[in-house]
Amino acid sequence: MSEMTPTGLEPVEVRHHRSRRVLAIDWSDGHRSEFALDYLRSWCPCAGCQGHAPVPRYLDLVGQSLAGIESVGNYALMFRWSDGHDTGIWAYPRLRELCPCEACGGEKREL
Ligand SMILES: [Zn+2]
Ligand SMILES: [Zn+2]
Repeated sequence: MSEMTPTGLEPVEVRHHRSRRVLAIDWSDGHRSEFALDYLRSWCPCAGCQGHAPVPRYLDLVGQSLAGIESVGNYALMFRWSDGHDTGIWAYPRLRELCPCEACGGEKREL
């Protein structure tokens, strides 16, 4: 039992498919998420991107590409974007919530 991730879910494998511009995550429960990079970046949770919005907002960005991925503690992933932006921390439960597969309800434009 992990106290860091209330859902108990965590990525077991994270792959960046550069040519498809997709980030694929295999979860500890066997689920797979495939995030389009534009979609992922558009949900950047950092204060710079979110401003003073009272609820998380979708930025609808295009042409995003990924330069690196790092683990943050045991609870989140940090993506470094090719424009140098690296202040967004995607907690595992949020990432899973945003899963764009059909079973999870497709891409979300609002939460
Ligand atoms: Zn940001
Ligand atoms: Zn899903």
